[in-house]
Amino acid sequence: MDLGIKGKTALVCASSKGLGRGCAMALAAEGVNLVINARGAEALEATAEEIRAAHGVEVTAVAADITSEEGRAKVLEACGQIDILVNNAGGPPPGFWPDWEREDFIAALDANMLTPIALIKALVPGMIDRGWGRVVNITSASVRSPIAQLGLSNSARAGLTGYVAGTSRQVCGKGVIMNNLLPGSHDTDRIKALTESTRQREGITMDEAVAKRNAANPTGRIGTAEEFGATCAFMCSQYVGFMVGQNILLDGGAFNATL
Ligand code: NAP
Repeated sequence: MDLGIKGKTALVCASSKGLGRGCAMALAAEGVNLVINARGAEALEATAEEIRAAHGVEVTAVAADITSEEGRAKVLEACGQIDILVNNAGGPPPGFWPDWEREDFIAALDANMLTPIALIKALVPGMIDRGWGRVVNITSASVRSPIAQLGLSNSARAGLTGYVAGTSRQVCGKGVIMNNLLPGSHDTDRIKALTESTRQREGITMDEAVAKRNAANPTGRIGTAEEFGATCAFMCSQYVGFMVGQNILLDGGAFNATL
């Protein structure tokens, strides 16, 4: 299926690895030119080179912390016209609810709510002027079904979800389509680290920890960055014009609900 976005340009934040990389790769496969970003320059350059070699699109790599004002300024400076924005960043640390102080919430809000909002404010006006744009915010399955130890993430991402619910409806009539993509467990470095900590905590082998993790999902496995990227690319396509302010859950059926 041709998604009809060949020749467009996308900014994919936090995309040297994991889900962001999956999104960048899937967009590049559709002929979309890219600005990609991460803090670590080495992995970022390697990913940029891989994408260029695989798909022949233009890739600009900007090493910067997207959650800082200076980092965002550096990324935006490197951007020409951006048609597609994929918002992403690392998630807040886990913890226990009585321990979180004001500054912990401020840091989480800055990274996972105010950073995507700042990029939307910077780039959506240009999309409106040109009458076409797509925004996908990578949030988390925890927006639908809270993860107790990730209270900072639950809170910040819920805030972004509320903002997108209202804003998406104000810009869709001008050709800009904005939605959220909610990952459940996917095979990235982050999940590998969580599986490793289960292994250590429970004194089991890695194979046992992986089997236990996979058995917890109705599909008997976790998702892949390729599957996630393909869904993201569809949400950036020409065919998504009637999907507005939605929260698309990709979790292999882990959230047990009829609706
Ligand atoms: P990952 O595999 O650890 O990859 C994170 C990517 O983001 C890396 O390229 C990293 O590169 C970059 N990054 C992190 N912080 C950044 C920052 N401040 N500025 C710029 N780039 C940054 O993570 P992931 O699993 O793909 O997760 C992506 C997002 O989805 C996270 O917010 C995570 O909480 C959420 N999520 C993931 C899952 C899952 O199962 N994987 C489930 C639910 C939610 P550098 O470190 O070099 O910056």
